[in-house]
Amino acid sequence: MKISFHGADREVTGSCHLLQAGGLRVLIDCGMYQGGRELEEENAQDFGFDPGSIDYLLLTHAHLDHCGRIPLLVRRGFRGEIIATAATRELARLVMLDAARLQEEEAERGARHARRGGAVPDQSLYGTLDALNALERFGRAAAYGEPIALTPALRATFHDAGHILGSASIRIEDTSGPVRSVIFSGDLGSSGRAILSDPETPPPADVVVMETTYGDRAHKALEPSVEELYQAITDTFARGGNVVIPTFALERAQEILFYLRQGVELGRLPRSMSVFLDSPMAISATEIFRRHAECFSSKSQALFDEGRDPFTLPGLRFTRDVAGSMALNRIVGGAVIMAGSGMCTGGRVRHHLRHNLGRRDSSVIFVGYAARGTLARELIDGAKQVTLFGEKFSVRARLHTINGFSAHADRDELLAWHRALKPAHTILVHGDEQSMQRFASVLENTEVCMPKRGDAFVF
Ligand code: ZN
Repeated sequence: MKISFHGADREVTGSCHLLQAGGLRVLIDCGMYQGGRELEEENAQDFGFDPGSIDYLLLTHAHLDHCGRIPLLVRRGFRGEIIATAATRELARLVMLDAARLQEEEAERGARHARRGGAVPDQSLYGTLDALNALERFGRAAAYGEPIALTPALRATFHDAGHILGSASIRIEDTSGPVRSVIFSGDLGSSGRAILSDPETPPPADVVVMETTYGDRAHKALEPSVEELYQAITDTFARGGNVVIPTFALERAQEILFYLRQGVELGRLPRSMSVFLDSPMAISATEIFRRHAECFSSKSQALFDEGRDPFTLPGLRFTRDVAGSMALNRIVGGAVIMAGSGMCTGGRVRHHLRHNLGRRDSSVIFVGYAARGTLARELIDGAKQVTLFGEKFSVRARLHTINGFSAHADRDELLAWHRALKPAHTILVHGDEQSMQRFASVLENTEVCMPKRGDAFVF
């Protein structure tokens, strides 16, 4: 068994690992590098292997940093089978098509710039056609806990990772000689979440390749965070303003809808409250969630079985088109507006910020991760003035940052997961250097390595 590393090595994006076992070449994830121009330029670099030589691609989940380079892989010659859960396949379709569209728009802007005498534009990574070709490569759908044969001797089993809908850790077993097994964690979720089940612990394995996003941190509890959300909304409505929630389209948007519904049901939020999900991608993702109740926790599944849709509440409206989104600008108060992008780097949320940031009676609630250099981070860090659409805006709205909604396991959860697998070898990926080092220092009875891009290990 040989494993080589081609992304998310001492960094948190661009997940891509290559396993050679049982005569096959199996890729686990093919994600995009995200976060700043320099890192993003690496997406166009050579993969470090020949895409045409890969037999299978096993996809852990549909986040862009795990599936975003698949269309490029196909464009460069990959002709193997992609295996993922049914929910991941549907969400990945949405994510890859959206990424392709964004790149086409970017390329178009570059071409306009070049026509005006600017520099020659960069080639985009891929377009819609490449994303559609990538979708053709999806073959068998994986069900949690059911082994899939890659060869008679090599089999892969997907286990619920509890991170986003359809997410999985993948255990691969080679029975051609003395049995060898390896588990790729994918991203692991946190326990006790609204919609999903807790991450499952797969059977033990010889080698574990695991994420360490929060390998050095403990999360805040979820319940006080939900309470904080209700309080922030109630206070804002009492002042007569609106609540703007910048939202990631996958999982976080559906989770917030779930809690808003629960708040109305418990009488913590007014029944008359208007809620707008102003994000075509989040709307499509919510529809996919509804089709995959098999991925829900038993509690959310029970809601569904009783005919109570966990994502529906009395005043909820979906705004897909631009006219509908613009109409929201005329609402003076009493509305919760959820829109992307989550870090306020683009998308419709910037329009809602433009109309609400300057109002003392309105609020902006941050419920997700905000990377350095983004507008969300600027606001969270207390900027008094920000620039939107080339204009300066004073920040008068009340800002809330609620940290308890993480989709990632924290240090203790990662540790418990690892302990149950009893691996002889542990390979840490998908984390920054500090998080990884600290996590490594608390692991026991295992040989730990932290590969750099291009490193390979034989077991
Ligand atoms: Zn993820």
